[in-house]
Amino acid sequence: MKKGKKLYEGKAKIIYATNDKGLVIQYFKDDATAFNNQKKSVIEGKGVLNNRISEHILSNLSQIGIKNHLVKRLNMREQVIKLVEIIPIEFIVRNVASGSITKRLGIEDGTVLKEPLIEYCLKDDKLGDPLIAEEHILAFEWATKKEVEKVKKMILRINDFMIGMFRGVGIKLIDFKLEFGRLKINGKDEVILADEISPDTCRLWDSITDKKLDKDRFRKNLGDLIPAYTEVAKRLGILHEQSNVSAVNVTKLSSVKRKRK
Ligand code: 5GP
Repeated sequence: MKKGKKLYEGKAKIIYATNDKGLVIQYFKDDATAFNNQKKSVIEGKGVLNNRISEHILSNLSQIGIKNHLVKRLNMREQVIKLVEIIPIEFIVRNVASGSITKRLGIEDGTVLKEPLIEYCLKDDKLGDPLIAEEHILAFEWATKKEVEKVKKMILRINDFMIGMFRGVGIKLIDFKLEFGRLKINGKDEVILADEISPDTCRLWDSITDKKLDKDRFRKNLGDLIPAYTEVAKRLGILHEQSNVSAVNVTKLSSVKRKRK
């Protein structure tokens, strides 16, 4: 497969064309942004870890029948993915109240929700990804009723699976963001899971200590983001090596593994 020109550069990823019209290459950057781009930094090794963690989660989801855009991981920072038309909605799934909902509704951080809560935000950086109702999605035709119903079913399945997967390795899945895209399969429009699932897009707390193992370490200036993401990868069985893998070591490990194959 030949890598073509850059099609799109986002905050944490770059998309490149390939010689196959239906496939693109997704490159994971080390850039970290928060608060609608107001806080920015480069954290060496973050892209490598997110590439691996997202690959792991999406391939597991594939195995339980959740269709998604991942074709295969190419190398330390790149994956081949299916080109989809992204639905311009961020689907937020919450099991425990944290982050924006605590401020918006005055709910105490850490409050366990009786049922998973799905929220919708319009994907628009200029507007700061505003919270919207399902009715807005239908009124402005960002997705059809059928698509929304299908996505909601997929979300609950994904949430159940991910809660179990993380619980098994001593991590609480507090909340996360999902994106979906449209794709023609055998001439029929289908909605599949797209984008990454990683500590950049989830809140993950250690089950016993509630230590944050996600991007809140960057948002809240807690430091040690790479050790936290490495811990997630290690617990998921992606990295088996020594306990405190630095960003540089992650890079080295990945290249050693590739050479051995
Ligand atoms: P909140 O609404 O509390 O800021 O975010 C809820 C969850 O969705 C968190 O896990 C957060 O990481 C994720 N999330 C929401 N919006 C975005 C976004 O624009 N980018 C990323 N990477 N994650 C987001």
